[in-house]
Amino acid sequence: MNATEKKPVEKVIESLADAGSVFIIGCTGCPVGCDVGGQPWIDEMTGALTAAGKKITGSCLIELLCNKALVGFKLSRKAEQILAADAVLVGSCGVGVQAVGNMVARRAVPGLDTTCLGDYQGLWPGSERCGQCGNCVLAYTGGLCPITLCAKSLVNGQCGGTCDDGSCEVSPEHPCGWKLIYDRLKELNRLDDMRRMIDPRDSRKLAIPDAIRRTMRYALEVDEQEAAATKEAH
Ligand code: SF4
Ligand code: SF4
Repeated sequence: MNATEKKPVEKVIESLADAGSVFIIGCTGCPVGCDVGGQPWIDEMTGALTAAGKKITGSCLIELLCNKALVGFKLSRKAEQILAADAVLVGSCGVGVQAVGNMVARRAVPGLDTTCLGDYQGLWPGSERCGQCGNCVLAYTGGLCPITLCAKSLVNGQCGGTCDDGSCEVSPEHPCGWKLIYDRLKELNRLDDMRRMIDPRDSRKLAIPDAIRRTMRYALEVDEQEAAATKEAH
């Protein structure tokens, strides 16, 4: 399970400042396990965004947003409502938000923050990864994660060391994450997002919260991970 927390409503509204219409997607996996997502979250966001003057073009719940086949199938049935929106608000871990951003021709904006719980990346077989930083900034990075795509996990890139061919100075076999973000923002006509100063990462959020450590679910997952590691070692 990925641990998720609600973003404050005013932050969600701020990140949708220039979107007149919004489609909302909720995940019923980890966010429901953490008691922060699912239909109650969709209802809360629908009320808050409507009160803020946004038009809600539709919403849907997806059982596991990290299940690629399911996401493609479910979203294709809502294509018309999604394309009628300026942005898609996603209530899932960072993997799910990136997955939606890569699948629909609309800006994907996170409604939750993903905090640390080991390195679980859900069931997603794609390349999208979440570093569980506790302050999801995908709303301002074109839906691409700077924590996992940039070798230095810079949140206000880029570092100045990008090679001429667009690769990263730290690992030339990989493209510069911030070059990818720049290209995506250009595609979305949102290069102004590059000017926004993002708050420095709060490293305390990289620790697994005590409230999570004390749950039975966490104990079971640690057992499962240790059993899988032992099996792999033999
Ligand atoms: S910015 Fe990246 S690491 Fe942080 S929560 Fe979002 S997807 Fe995860
Ligand atoms: S070259 Fe790009 S990916 Fe590499 S550390 Fe600098 S900003 Fe990050």
